Amino acid sequence: MDLAERYANLHVSRHPLVAHKLALLRDQTTEPKKFRELVRELSWLLGYEAMADLSTRPISVETPLERMVGAELEPKVGLIPVLRAGLGMVDAMLELMPSAEVWHIGLYRDERSLKPVEYYNKLPDAATVQVCLILDPMLATGGSSSATVDILKHWGAARIKQVSLIAAPEGVATLSAAHPDVDIHVGAVDRALNERGYIVPGLGDAGDRQFGTFAGPSSEPGHDPADETAEVVRRLQRNLAGDA
Ligand code: URA
Repeated sequence: MDLAERYANLHVSRHPLVAHKLALLRDQTTEPKKFRELVRELSWLLGYEAMADLSTRPISVETPLERMVGAELEPKVGLIPVLRAGLGMVDAMLELMPSAEVWHIGLYRDERSLKPVEYYNKLPDAATVQVCLILDPMLATGGSSSATVDILKHWGAARIKQVSLIAAPEGVATLSAAHPDVDIHVGAVDRALNERGYIVPGLGDAGDRQFGTFAGPSSEPGHDPADETAEVVRRLQRNLAGDA
């Protein structure tokens, strides 16, 4: 069954510009400058789609010719980029919604277990926004996203959406099972996660490709093809198969 039919909260863009730009983004010869531009352009397009159902309230506008009733966005929106790859999606979203607040929650994926570990969270005590958009180019295992949603729900966010450029079926299944009320907006759903936690065919490491950090050690996804990592991926794949 098509994944979008199985998960009512999953929205896969059908826009030809998204498909075109994703192919350029995936290309291994696309260098970091062009890669960052594409992340920004894709974020703009997916953000536009993700916010299509936000409510508006009427406002009075005086045009040069007459007074009319216009619309203004009703909910306050918060952007929560998943560090570090999600940072590249923020500017495009702020272009769409200049008044959005940007909140940072730092989670890293333990290399072996692929479990999210929180290392930074400066959210104020009570929610200051009604709608939160979690920005992460790659929805891989879904672990970081589920943990971020847990934090945001506890904070008091009324509505949460995930915006990703590419998702793995395993990540969609994990996030949907934990939080079926969270809308997931993506440019594409790829074939699977590999045993190292990378999305395939994917695009490689979205952080490294944006920031040109190909030489250093990375914690995301697991660099060491440890048995533990592969076992986590196998468990997610069994869960996904169990859902079918
Ligand atoms: N994070 C990435 O940057 N790429 C993947 O394929 C998976 C997680």
